[in-house]
Amino acid sequence: MKIGILSRNRRLYSTRRLVEAGRQRGHEIQVIDTLRCYMNIVSHRPAIHYMGEILTGCDAVIPRIGASVTFYGAAVLRQFEMMGVYPLNESVAITRSRDKLRSLQLLARKGIGLPVTGFAHSPDDIQDLIKMVGGAPLVIKLLEGTQGIGVVLTETAKAAESVVEAFMGLKANILVQEYISEANGADIRCFVIGDRVVAAMRRQAKEGEFRSNLHRGGTASPIKITPEERSTAVRAAKVMGLNVCGVDVLRSNHGPVVMEVNSSPGLEGVEAATGKDIAGMVYEFIEKNARPHRTRTKGKG
Ligand code: ADP
Repeated sequence: MKIGILSRNRRLYSTRRLVEAGRQRGHEIQVIDTLRCYMNIVSHRPAIHYMGEILTGCDAVIPRIGASVTFYGAAVLRQFEMMGVYPLNESVAITRSRDKLRSLQLLARKGIGLPVTGFAHSPDDIQDLIKMVGGAPLVIKLLEGTQGIGVVLTETAKAAESVVEAFMGLKANILVQEYISEANGADIRCFVIGDRVVAAMRRQAKEGEFRSNLHRGGTASPIKITPEERSTAVRAAKVMGLNVCGVDVLRSNHGPVVMEVNSSPGLEGVEAATGKDIAGMVYEFIEKNARPHRTRTKGKG
């Protein structure tokens, strides 16, 4: 098959691995810089132009769209969908997953376990908001944050109030969340492909830190997850409409709770921790499922 990888940087580990694994399986792989795609919006024969040429003949695309280019990246992917190219993850699902509030609302609606979470717009409501989610200690998160940046643990209600006030003063969108202290600074990244968790790793925050992100110095190791965790991750992926994603789960006293569903999960940490050929499994899924015009939402927003 001819498969495009939408990625801004061909040197990134995940992109390199996807190129390598795709070629190994006999596919023709092209890395396409998302931001260099341009297009005209027409109802007949929509096309994508790239570096002076029209991109043709792609059977499937693998979107690796970074958080900072979600808006444009989703538009490019929609155009591919309108052309009938099979997307590994659909644009609608990616856009959904990038909005933390929307994601949590969708997951809650389907009864997926979540940390108690609140959000408000007006500083006048802070005290009641904090009470509503059960009081301190609390985790406060910037909605636009990634890789653990903008995630703050506040030990007391007073501290929580001040941090919420400060963020609101900066016009930042935030959410306020129950702190799952029993997770002990660890979370579980479940790598989902289709209706299976193909790999799981435990990420442990470094000493004195509660955020387990590898970018924040966390360490990864393979873990055996419970059937409940497995089904929670698979259901969360399904609710979001993502074929391939990373579902981050915390072990709480009230069972597994989902923190986040990541539509462009990195391969490096999980392949290193588990020794599995995840990139190969991604192609296995594409080979089984890619058909022209198979997009459920046909490029809708
Ligand atoms: P980001 O999307 O920036 O990675 P997350 O919401 O995933 O932000 O939070 C980063 C890390 O902080 C998580 O991996 C987890 O280890 C920790 N964390 C986040 N929320 C909570 C919570 N409610 N309780 C306990 N730990 C949390």
